Amino acid sequence: MTNTVTVMGLGLMGTALAEAFLKDGRTTTVWNRTAAKADHLAAKGAARAATAGDAITASPLVVLCLSVNDNVREVLTAAGDTLAGRTIVNLTNGTPRQARELAELVTARGGEYVDGGIMAVPPMISQPEALILYSGSRRAFDAHKEQLGSLGAARYVGADAGLAALYDLGLLTAMYGMFQGYYQAVALLRTEGVKAAEFTPMMQSWVTAMMAGLPEQAAQIDSGDYLTDISSLANNAAGYPNLIEAAREQGVSTELLLPLRDLLDRSVAEGHGADGVARLVELLGAPAA
Ligand code: NDP
Repeated sequence: MTNTVTVMGLGLMGTALAEAFLKDGRTTTVWNRTAAKADHLAAKGAARAATAGDAITASPLVVLCLSVNDNVREVLTAAGDTLAGRTIVNLTNGTPRQARELAELVTARGGEYVDGGIMAVPPMISQPEALILYSGSRRAFDAHKEQLGSLGAARYVGADAGLAALYDLGLLTAMYGMFQGYYQAVALLRTEGVKAAEFTPMMQSWVTAMMAGLPEQAAQIDSGDYLTDISSLANNAAGYPNLIEAAREQGVSTELLLPLRDLLDRSVAEGHGADGVARLVELLGAPAA
């Protein structure tokens, strides 16, 4: 097992990745389109590659972290035959389809491809709380798992290269849902002078209590049995307009609130009023015509 790694893309995240490899004493080659961003990594012991091709040939394991996958495609296409025999681990955020297309590009040139999703911000990199999801070539992941462990907790989610992006975007979807609810709530409370710092601990306790019920909802979703004796869609559809009316009364935007009202109304119109709210997953999987 070689202890040699290349990092391509030295933005905020790529720099943190390269620093984590260096911290663990790994021989690290770095490359960035704007070469000056490699200066402080070179001062810490990283080797600079003059070109992307040099960066790829320098190590069997090549970690990419660029802004978007169009840039990854451009860099890998230009790299041509240098990809043969390399493992490309692409930690750039993207979609499952993009990951699958990049896997095809790399394997067609004789390399192995692993896609990744970073569930962390740069200061968390190298800590166990930094979850990094991987999918694609199992052989390549296993061969480099120890080195990838320098970046955080490595979790392999499947051989389909698109799966890491699918999980990543799923987790981000849940995060944005939580954020948008929080911002809407704070905007409402502020209309009466309640400080965000005063309201936030109450909201954290409430959301934590609600999250405790998710495994039960997961069981309903997986079984397809949504009957409830806790809270029906009909009751939620009847009460939810109060959120919209209160926002209007207080002069707060309803932009984030309206889509869920429409979904709740559709669930009742389609005859699911007696079911629990977890049935909304079924409606989301079958968009209205
Ligand atoms: P930055 O904007 O800091 O860095 C972007 C990097 O992409 C730079 O190295 C930049 O090079 C490079 N780049 C952009 N366009 C090209 C191109 N056409 N050819 C070659 N290189 C190019 O972004 P981050 O480092 O923050 O993010 C990188 C990836 O990591 C993104 O996909 C992001 O979603 C993901 N990520 C970031 C997190 C974060 O908290 N920062 C958290 C989780 C994931 P140059 O310096 O020359 O412009």
